[in-house]
Amino acid sequence: MPDPTCPPSPPAVVIGAGPAGLMAAEALAQAGLAVEVFDAMPSVGRKFLLAGVGGMNITHSEAYPAFVGRYAERQREIDALLRGFDADALRQWIHGLGIETFVGTSGRVFPSDMKAAPLLRAWLKRLRDTGVVIHTRHRWLGWSPEGALRLAYPQGERRVEAAVVVLALGGGSWARLGSDGSWQALLAQRAVDIAPLQPSNCGFEVEGWSALLQQKFAGAPLKNIALSVPGSPPRKGEFILTAQGVEGSLVYAWSAAVREAINRTGQGQLLLDLLPDKPVDKIAQALARPRGSRSMARHLQGQLGIDGVKAALLRELTDQATFANPDALARAIKALPITLVRTRPLDEAISSAGGVRFEGLDDGLMVKGMPGVFCAGEMLDWEAPTGGYLLTACFASGLRAGRAAAHWLALQASGNCP
Ligand SMILES: Cc1cc2nc3c(=O)[nH]c(=O)nc-3n(C[C@H](O)[C@H](O)[C@H](O)COP(=O)(O)OP(=O)(O)OC[C@H]3O[C@@H](n4cnc5c(N)ncnc54)[C@H](O)[C@@H]3O)c2cc1C
Repeated sequence: MPDPTCPPSPPAVVIGAGPAGLMAAEALAQAGLAVEVFDAMPSVGRKFLLAGVGGMNITHSEAYPAFVGRYAERQREIDALLRGFDADALRQWIHGLGIETFVGTSGRVFPSDMKAAPLLRAWLKRLRDTGVVIHTRHRWLGWSPEGALRLAYPQGERRVEAAVVVLALGGGSWARLGSDGSWQALLAQRAVDIAPLQPSNCGFEVEGWSALLQQKFAGAPLKNIALSVPGSPPRKGEFILTAQGVEGSLVYAWSAAVREAINRTGQGQLLLDLLPDKPVDKIAQALARPRGSRSMARHLQGQLGIDGVKAALLRELTDQATFANPDALARAIKALPITLVRTRPLDEAISSAGGVRFEGLDDGLMVKGMPGVFCAGEMLDWEAPTGGYLLTACFASGLRAGRAAAHWLALQASGNCP
């Protein structure tokens, strides 16, 4: 029998219905709590669905030490989260939704149909079946003076009492999908420790490409090349030359290092190896062969297969003297410095660096000094390359925050009302 002297408990509330928030909701519901989820958008999981458009890379199959190393400076904090829910556990969880996964040639893990929508559909059904109530078109505006959650919805503003709240509001990129980073101001007012959001897995701008390069080659892919930052071993792959600079998977892989170099010194550098499978001396030998009346451009094409955007970029970034000297040109072909001066805007990035610092959270991701308020997902201060690492940490942190919130609530309740 409920104790009539005890008022009914308010629900556990999750704000933000991306992967992190929905995972927190699932954990709270599994703990037997009434859960209400609020999201600003007309439908949930929009970024998750977008991530599925080009093939939903949900996690990675590499060995754990390499996997956790991807979180670089936040490896220690993310390790603590992954110990509760790692890549294998995530795959099992997906299988539990009736969706198979497979490992691609690169070690990346995908749902068998590569899509996000069937997974999200099955998950939402399971959440609703366990009683989770999802409210869309509800934008969180902060707290009322009495401590209730303020939510703007089409009919005006609601105040919602919450027994516990998990904020899973995402980063600051692709604002049109819902995660606009506006929570930064709301949490800063409460003195929450936040590292400013910055682009991660992003493109970069150069000081300015020549008109020729922009007009003829913007949008052109550079394939079978390698990129490095000074002092690091090169990685093979491809990237795209843009009107303003460079973008694409291989650039994203170096984006944290380049962004930090720009932050420190005003510029960062990528070293482009146009022929990663040919040693520099072989290239120099090929270039030193007699070229007769052929131009150097024809010689490059004939001897080394360098033409199109690769040749144009080589010409753009080398001076006359280097271009005329086979040894110097060979060295340039192996390490062509591309100087980058700005990131592309945060809104265009795949993900955000920065966010709520772990130092301001306890082990259960509860904000220190704000009892009952937890944070999860991309809004936390960590970053990782693409490859499934982003989603894995979002799921793991959502689960940790949801479980810790339920546990905290149970501790509050013990000794008080049942
Ligand atoms: C193009 C693209 C492709 C990607 N591909 C991959 C991939 O293949 N693999 C991978 O691991 N990662 C990928 N990612 C990254 C991944 O999608 C995100 O890291 C992940 O969705 C973040 O989850 P989250 O739950 O923290 O936040 P989000 O998914 O951003 O969800 C946050 C939610 O909070 C809501 N919200 C925000 N503010 C408020 C407010 N004030 N009130 C109410 N609701 C609010 C938003 O509407 C949103 O629904 C990709 C990202 C992009 C942009």
